[in-house]
Amino acid sequence: MPLPSVTVHDKTFELFISDEQIQSKIAELGQRLSADFASKKPLLIGVLNGSFMFASDLMKSINIDAEITFIKVSSYSGMQSQGKTKELIGLNEAIEGREVVVVEDIVDTGITMEGIVNELNKMGAASVEVASLLVKPDCLQRDVTVKYTGFEIPEKFVVGYGLDYDGLGRNLKDIYQLKQE
Ligand code: 5GP
Ligand code: MG
Ligand code: MG
Repeated sequence: MPLPSVTVHDKTFELFISDEQIQSKIAELGQRLSADFASKKPLLIGVLNGSFMFASDLMKSINIDAEITFIKVSSYSGMQSQGKTKELIGLNEAIEGREVVVVEDIVDTGITMEGIVNELNKMGAASVEVASLLVKPDCLQRDVTVKYTGFEIPEKFVVGYGLDYDGLGRNLKDIYQLKQE
């Protein structure tokens, strides 16, 4: 039987990680975070737009005091430092002395995450850990430690559960992988 598939724009994607698998993994991650950060009042920082669903479900799975906020990141694409994160847009919280957990949908090359972690360390965070629903280990180009990983996946484009293909597909409850034509 063929895998269930969806069309997003002009491309076909096949079911890859089900809603149930995602939710049971998030329950595990939530238990680990709750144990590791008990009485530390961590600040979760979701990276928009892709992490909005994961951040929401992860927050619900945590049973200790925790705060959440969201940022966008901008990077110069011109002649200067391509790929380097320049700014954490929308971050109003004081970071100094905080236990921070950056919440991402996917770590691919790790360039974005390296920039975010460096900025937060410069701002004086007491600790900075990373929670990413997806990691593509074969694509990593930076020394980024993702302590709280949902799923390690191969080097293929995925959509759904917050992740988009050119703006669409974020509303899918499951994660789908680009079908090889
Ligand atoms: P990195 O800086 O780690 O290379 O890139 C991270 C960003 O690239 C993610 O936040 C996401 O926006 C995008 N990205 C990387 N791989 C995928 C993928 O398979 N699907 C989607 N939708 N976005 C991806
Ligand atoms: Mg992202
Ligand atoms: Mg995107």
